[in-house]
Amino acid sequence: MATGSSTAAQRLAETIASAREMVDAARKDGAMVGLVPTMGFFHEGHLSLMRAARSECDFVAVTIFVNPRQFGEGEDLERYPRDPERDLELAAAAGVDLVFMPGGEEMYPPGFETAVTPGATASGLCGASRPGHFSGVLTVVAKLLNIFTPGRAYFGWKDAQQAAVVARMIDDLNFPVTLRVLPTVREDDGLAMSSRNAYLGPEERRQAAVIYAALEAAREAVLAGESDVATVRQLIADRIGRMPLVEPEYIEIVDARTMQPAARAGEGTLAAVAARVGAARLIDNIHLGREEPK
Ligand code: AMP
Repeated sequence: MATGSSTAAQRLAETIASAREMVDAARKDGAMVGLVPTMGFFHEGHLSLMRAARSECDFVAVTIFVNPRQFGEGEDLERYPRDPERDLELAAAAGVDLVFMPGGEEMYPPGFETAVTPGATASGLCGASRPGHFSGVLTVVAKLLNIFTPGRAYFGWKDAQQAAVVARMIDDLNFPVTLRVLPTVREDDGLAMSSRNAYLGPEERRQAAVIYAALEAAREAVLAGESDVATVRQLIADRIGRMPLVEPEYIEIVDARTMQPAARAGEGTLAAVAARVGAARLIDNIHLGREEPK
């Protein structure tokens, strides 16, 4: 599809210049612009962000870019699932105004050399197991915020550390945008929706549900009075250990804002898990308190 073509009311941009033109035209009328950055292969988690943006903004832009800078050596960049045609249809059905789908060279032309470096928020959890990952995330998010200058940007709690790292960057570098972080959308058995769930075979898919079951069990234990971090981590490990195809990479209790290890489990803390299940690396988290963290 050519740059600037449209499906119903939705438009597609493949260059930064055309995306800017369309969003600037919308903003001339005073529109509140909402931005939903994604890597595509949409599921209900992505669509929930688009619907929230649709209800809170006048103009909704979704970006689809499998950002090479956030993938490490030997990770799944090449086989990351893609289905742009289906994505465009789903975005149109969710009422999205503009889909930005740039190629790699459009975002990182020859000579590109600048990167945003995160701080301590990115040091543990996925930052520890995926060196450079959050620098890649922040660099592309900074570019997208500068391309669209949205009033609101939408992210999911599913990637809690990503949301925390982006929140810090927005504060630290004074991006004039309000961050909206929305709840994790799950399959019926609790598995967090993820494009990477497509990697799972049937038995792996069945066993993967233990991740959320373990997180829920941890939350129940904490709400019932348990606050010892080692005990809560062990409870999660034991539960996950019942499913041999699920191999935890980390199980941590962290402060929901700073992502630093928490002294006690409870209000304002998260239990966060990364696990390998077959070819997939899955992450999930749960808040260990009654109030959702802000
Ligand atoms: P991705 O395409 O995986 O990079 O995700 C794009 C955005 O959707 C990120 O802000 C994710 O946190 C969010 N997201 C991914 N999965 C879910 C989910 N199951 N529920 C809610 N948001 C999600």
